[in-house]
Amino acid sequence: MFLKNFIDGVLVPPYSGVHLDNVNPATGKIYSYIPDSDEHDVQLAVEAAEKAFPTWSKMSIDERSRVLMRIADLIESKLEELALAETIDSGKAISTSRTVDIPRAQANFRFFANAITQFGSESYHAAGEAINYTLRQPLGVVGCISPWNLPLYLFTWKIAPALAAGNCVVAKPSELTPMTAFLLSQICIEAGLPAGVLNIVHGLGGKAGQAIVEHSRIKAISFTGGTVTGRKIAQVAAPMFKKLSLELGGKNPNLIFADCNFEEAIATTIRSSFANNGQICLCGSRVYVQVPIYERFRDELIKRTNALKTGNPLEEQHDLGALVSKGHLEKVQGYLELAKAEGGTILCGGERLNIGGENAEGYFLSPAIIEGLSNEARCNQEEIFGPVITITPFDTEAEAIELANGTGYGLASTVWTQDISRANRVAEQLQAGIVWINCWMLRDLRTPFGGVKNSGVGREGGFEALRFFTEAKNVCVKYG
Ligand code: NAD
Repeated sequence: MFLKNFIDGVLVPPYSGVHLDNVNPATGKIYSYIPDSDEHDVQLAVEAAEKAFPTWSKMSIDERSRVLMRIADLIESKLEELALAETIDSGKAISTSRTVDIPRAQANFRFFANAITQFGSESYHAAGEAINYTLRQPLGVVGCISPWNLPLYLFTWKIAPALAAGNCVVAKPSELTPMTAFLLSQICIEAGLPAGVLNIVHGLGGKAGQAIVEHSRIKAISFTGGTVTGRKIAQVAAPMFKKLSLELGGKNPNLIFADCNFEEAIATTIRSSFANNGQICLCGSRVYVQVPIYERFRDELIKRTNALKTGNPLEEQHDLGALVSKGHLEKVQGYLELAKAEGGTILCGGERLNIGGENAEGYFLSPAIIEGLSNEARCNQEEIFGPVITITPFDTEAEAIELANGTGYGLASTVWTQDISRANRVAEQLQAGIVWINCWMLRDLRTPFGGVKNSGVGREGGFEALRFFTEAKNVCVKYG
C-alpha cells in the first residue's frame, strides 16, 4: 500500500515520486510505503493553507466547532480500524491502542471543539479614562510535527487546537508511524473539512520536517519529539521569530516514600514504567524508594515485571508489544550494555525475545530493572525511552528531591506518600512541568502540559494551547 500526502483537500503522491519503506515492528517486514516528501510538497501545502485561511479563520466559532466534532465522531466510530492500524504501525499492544491512543485522539478533537466556544480574552477598565481589550487572532499557517510513540494521539493534540483557533495547518507525523495520520486525512475528507485547512505531508524529519520549520510563511511550530531535534528546530525557527512550542524528552522520577499506599504505588509503578513499552514521554524511568520499604518494593516490582506478557501486539492478552524500530531496539539494548559497564545490575529482563512464527524478526525486548547505578550514571541521566527503569534507595525527603532534580530533564514526576503536607512540599520543589501525587497519567485536558529544563519550552493543553495558536492584540479605547 502506498500512502499519500493530503494537500488542498486531496490525497496526492509526493512531488519526488519517491517512497520510503514502512516497517511493521512486530514482524520486521515492510508492509507499506510512505511519501518521501521535500520542500516542494511543503510549498504546495503552505499555498493551500494560505488559500484556505481567510474563509476558515472567519468562519463562525460554532461552525468551526461542528466540523471538528464531526472529525471526533468519525474517529470514535472507526476506533477498531484505527486501533488496529496504530498497533501494526507502531508495535504497541492492541489494548493500548484501543483504550489510550484512539480514544484520546477523538477526545482531543472533541475537547478543542468545545474549548474554542469558551475561549475568552482579557479586558482592563480604567474608570473614566479608557478600556483596553485584547483580541486573540489566529496566526495564519502553522506547522505541527509529532513523534512515533503516541502517533495519532499527539498528532491530533496539536492539530485540534490549531484548527479550533482558526489557523490552517501543515502537519508532519513521524516517518516511523504514518498510518493513522494517513487515515485521518481520509476522515477529514469525510467530515467535510474545507480543502487546505489541514495539510499532511509525510516524510523524513531532516527533509520534510526541516522544510516546514524553514518555511518563511509558517508562523509557528508546535513540535513534540526528542530534545536534540528540538534544539535543531529552535536554531532554525528562533532567528525567524516564529512562535515555538517544544515538548521534548524526559527522565522522570518516581519518588516512593515509606508511608505510601504500597499496593497502589507498586501497581502504578508497573504501569508508569512499562506502559507502551516504556515509550511514553511521561513514563517514570527512575524509581527512587525510601530505605524502610526498598527491598520489599524492589522484590515485588521484579515479580510483577516478570509477570508482564510480551508478545504479538495484536493479541489482547499481551501487555507489551514490539519496540518501534530496529534502530530504537538497538539503542535501548546499548543502554543495557552501558548499565553493566557503569556498574549496574540487571535485576530482570533486558533480553531480546524471539516470539516465533511471523513475529520471529520482531523487535521484542523483555522489560528490565537496573539496580546499583549512581545518579550521575548515563543510564540515570539520559532518556532511554524503552522498557527499562532504574531503581535506587533514598533516606530522607531532601535526598529524594535532590536525586529527582539531578538530571537535565524536567518533564513529569510522581510522588507516593500518605502525608499530604509532604506531598505538597515535595511537589513545590520538584523541577518538573507536571507532578502526579499518588497517581500517574491521570490527565485532565484543561491543565497546562509541558516541561522545564531540557524537556521543553511552552505549554500545551486547555487554553494554553489556544493562546499559543493565537496572537494577542491589545486595543486601547479612550473614553470620549
Ligand atoms: P524525533 O525528535 O526523532 O522526531 C520527532 C518528529 O520530528 C518526527 O516527525 C521527525 O520526523 C521530526 N524531525 C526530525 N528531525 C527534524 C528536523 N531537523 N526538523 C524538523 N522535524 C524533524 O523524536 P522521536 O524519536 O520521534 O520521539 C521520541 C521523543 O519524543 C522522545 O525524546 C520523547 O520523550 C519525546 N516525546 C515528548 C513528549 C512530550 O510531550 N514532552 C511526548 C512524546 C514524546
